[in-house]
Formats: sequence, structure tokens, C-alpha cells
Amino acid sequence: MSKSFLIDTTVCTACRGCQIACKQWHNLPAEKTKNWGSYQNPADLSFNTYKLVRMREEIIDGKLKWLFFPDQCRHCLEPPCQDTAGEPTAIFTDQATGAVIYTCNTKGLDADEIIESCPYDIPRKASDGTLAKCDMCLDRVENGLLPICVKTCPVGGMNFGDRNEILSLAQKRLAGVKGKYPQAMLLDPDDIRVIYLVAYDPNLYHDSAVASNSTLNITRQVALRKMFRPLTNITSHLL
Ligand code: SF4
Ligand code: SF4
Ligand code: SF4
Repeated sequence: MSKSFLIDTTVCTACRGCQIACKQWHNLPAEKTKNWGSYQNPADLSFNTYKLVRMREEIIDGKLKWLFFPDQCRHCLEPPCQDTAGEPTAIFTDQATGAVIYTCNTKGLDADEIIESCPYDIPRKASDGTLAKCDMCLDRVENGLLPICVKTCPVGGMNFGDRNEILSLAQKRLAGVKGKYPQAMLLDPDDIRVIYLVAYDPNLYHDSAVASNSTLNITRQVALRKMFRPLTNITSHLL
């Protein structure tokens, strides 16, 4: 049975336990940061930061709201990054869980093209071009453990399990918050394995909260990219 996450931002307190636990489990170094005018720290995902609790302050209905968005790879059902790479030893989908996995063989691929293909702005590259991102804590999941970010969350904001159960939980949580947050919604639940529940317009949380060019589903975006890639190449030869 493939797996999925539900990230319920309506209960997230931005404690950043998930962010720190991800770093600890993967033995990733801390980032050197500076005050850039936000409590969000570090400022962005990186080759060494797979999970980032994004924070924004917004005025909604005349009141100041803190909006928290624990950002990570969505483990797309049909991952554009994998399709763009076209190299199964570098980027592949684990059949049992659905986790999209990057290996050190991403070095040598066109990193910028793969990054650009991601509708959620997730992959990040090292100076040698190797790419990295969330791996679903596959080493833990294969041994019957929860991803460490899920295990760490103290408020039930992070949830993980069989996809059908998570989809049911997502609908139940959505129904439960609709009274308090009439605009609440699930983000791209049919296309991805990391499903967010948000209380307000997702674009208020993060520019890439929903798939870029949301009028197209992810599969169509990939198909269109393939269709137009040869035309782009032809054009560049003509210039
Ligand atoms: Fe790939 Fe981006 Fe989808 Fe993650 S969210 S599987 S990096 S396309
Ligand atoms: Fe990090 Fe694992 Fe959570 Fe992915 S699933 S964000 S790798 S802790
Ligand atoms: Fe939010 Fe839970 Fe992550 Fe804390 S651990 S930032 S409450 S999702």
C-alpha cells in the first residue's frame, strides 16, 4: 500500500520540531543564518535543509494572522522531476511507498532543468550539481517507523500512513474545520502524497503552496514540456 502525509496547518504552532528532527535524522549540518526580517529560519530550503517551516504575517478580515507552512517534497504521483531527469539510477519512485528518491547520481544531470520542472520549487543543488530533497525517511518507513518529522510533531499537525487512510483523514479534518474556516481546502490531493490542509487562500502561505500554473494538472504540465522542448531546441539553433 503506498503512503501519504496529511499536514494540517490549522493546528501547526511553528514549533519547528519537524524541521530540526529532519536535520538530526539525516545528519545534515546547520545553516549559517542572519536576521532577514522574519522568524522563518533559514530563509529557504537548501541542499542541507529538506524541511522548512515557512512563516508569513497576513491581514485577513482585518486581523493579523500568522500563517505557518511546513514545506517539503510532495512526492508527486507522477513526478515531473523524475520524468525530466529520465535517469532511474538518479531519480526513481519507490514502488512500495511511492517515495520519490534522489541519489548521488543526480550529479551530472541538468540540475537547473530538474529544479525548474518541480511545480513546488523543492529540489536544491550542491555546488557540484548534486540534488537533494526530502526522502520520506524511507529508511525508517521500510522498518515500520514513522517519518521523523511526523513522529516529532507535538500537536498532530503531521500525519502519515496508507494513502487511502490519509485521504479519508484529510476529508474528515477538512469537514471539521470548515465551520471555523469556511475557505479551508486541501491542496492538490489527487496529484501528490503530501497533502496540506490550509485555512485560507494557499497563496498567502507560500508562493509555491499549490502547483505552479494551477490550471494544468501535473501530468499535463509534463506532457506539454515534452511537446515544446524540441521547438525550444530548434529555436535556439536558429538564433
Ligand atoms: Fe519531484 Fe517536486 Fe514532485 Fe518532489 S514535489 S516529487 S521534487 S516534482
Ligand atoms: Fe525530512 Fe523525513 Fe520529514 Fe521528509 S519525511 S521532511 S526527509 S523528516
Ligand atoms: Fe508545526 Fe508540528 Fe512542525 Fe511543530 S512539528 S512546526 S507543530 S508541523
